[in-house]
Amino acid sequence: MNPNLTADRPTFVTHLECSITGERYEADRLHGLSRAGRPLLVRYDLAAVGAALSKDALEARPTDLWRWRELLPVRRTENVVSLGEIETPLIPIPTSGGGNVQVKDEGRLPTGSFKARGLVMAVAMAKELGVTRIAMPTNGNAGAALAAYATRVGIETIVFCPEDTPEVNVREIAMQGARVWRVNGLIDDCGAIVGKGAAEGRWFDFSTLKEPYRIEGKKTMGLELAAQLGWELPDAIFYPTGGGTGLIGMWKAFDELEKLGWIGSKRPRMYAVQASGCAPIVRAFEAGEEHAERWEDAHTVAAGIRVPKAVGDFLILRAVRESGGKALGVGDPAILKAVDECARKDGLLLCPEGGATLAAYREAVKIGEVDEDERVVLFNCATGLKYPMPPAPQTLDRHAPIDFDRL
Ligand SMILES: *Cc1c(COP(=O)(O)O)cnc(C)c1O
Repeated sequence: MNPNLTADRPTFVTHLECSITGERYEADRLHGLSRAGRPLLVRYDLAAVGAALSKDALEARPTDLWRWRELLPVRRTENVVSLGEIETPLIPIPTSGGGNVQVKDEGRLPTGSFKARGLVMAVAMAKELGVTRIAMPTNGNAGAALAAYATRVGIETIVFCPEDTPEVNVREIAMQGARVWRVNGLIDDCGAIVGKGAAEGRWFDFSTLKEPYRIEGKKTMGLELAAQLGWELPDAIFYPTGGGTGLIGMWKAFDELEKLGWIGSKRPRMYAVQASGCAPIVRAFEAGEEHAERWEDAHTVAAGIRVPKAVGDFLILRAVRESGGKALGVGDPAILKAVDECARKDGLLLCPEGGATLAAYREAVKIGEVDEDERVVLFNCATGLKYPMPPAPQTLDRHAPIDFDRL
C-alpha cells in the first residue's frame, strides 16, 4: 500500500475564492463557477502547511502525486481514488530540441495523458461532496480520464465529444464505463449541452474550470517540476494551451511554493502554445486584451488544444504576462515535423500537442525570444501512441530468398 495514501494526513483548505472578484466561498460545499461566472480557486492555510510539512519530510515520501496531500483539497483518505499517478520523468531531447531542453512526459500517467492529474482530483472531490452523476464535454483525453476514475468510485458519467474526436479516445471512454455521445459540433457546442442538462439538475457539470478541483490536480505539475529540479525552476516552460488548466495550475503552484518559502521569487517565462488554426489566446495576447474572443472555424491536428473559447482565458493571459512569457501560435506542418523529428532523432514519441511545444520552442530560439543556453521544459501531455502515425508498409516473404543487404 502506498504510504502517501495510508498515512493520516491533515488538510488545510480554508475557503474558495472567485478568480475575478475575490469573493469568498465556503469550503466543503459543492461549487461550480462563481456568481460572476468565473472559475473558483482553492485557498489553503499555507502557514499551517509550512508548520506541518518540511521539505525534507516531503522528499522522504514516495514521489507520486499524493505526496502533495497537504497542498491538495481531499479531506478524507477514503475518498482518494488512484490508478497510480506517478511522478512523470523529464526526458532530454538533445538532437531535436537541444542540450538544455527537457520534455516532461505526461503520457505515462493513467489513461495516457495529464488529464489524469486533473480528473483524479476532481473525481475524488465529487465523491467527497456526494455527486452521483457527472457530464463533460471533451476532445478525448479528459473524457477518458473522467470515465476511468468515476467508474472506479461508482459515479455515473455522460460524455459528449465532437464527432471527429480520434476514434481511440471515443472507444476508451466507452470501454472505461462512460456513456459517450458524438456531437456534430466543437467542444463548446458539447459544453452547451452539458450546461443545459446541469441547469435542469440532471447532472453535475465537469467542464474545464467549471468545477474548482481540476486546477488543483494539474497544479501538481508545477509542484513536481520544482521538486525534480532541486527547487530551482527552469527559465522557460512551453505549455500546449487549450482550456489552460495546467498553465493556470502551475502558476498557482509556484505562488504557493514561494509562500511556503520552498522556492524564491524567480519564475519561468510561461509560453502558452496554441495551433495557428485555433489561437484565441495568441490573438488576445497580441492585441493586449484581457479576455479572448471565440475563435471561429477552429481546426488543427492537435485536437487537445482545439478549444475556441476558454472560460479561464484571463487567468492564462495574466500568468503569461506576469511571467514575461508570450502566447505563440504554430502551424500544423511545423507540429507534425516536430513530432517526426523528435521520434526519429531522439526516440521519444510525442503527441501532436507536445509536438506543438517543440515547434514553438524552435521558433522562439530562431527569433531570439529564447536563448539556446536557457533551461527549458516542454510539456508532452499525452502518449504519442494514441495518435495516427505514418504508415510503415514494408513486408517480407519468409519463403522467398532474403536479400539481407537490403534489410
Ligand atoms: C487537454 C489537453 C491539452 C490542453 O490542456 P489544458 O490544460 O486544458 O490547456 C493539451 N494536450 C492534450 C493532449 C490534452 O489532452
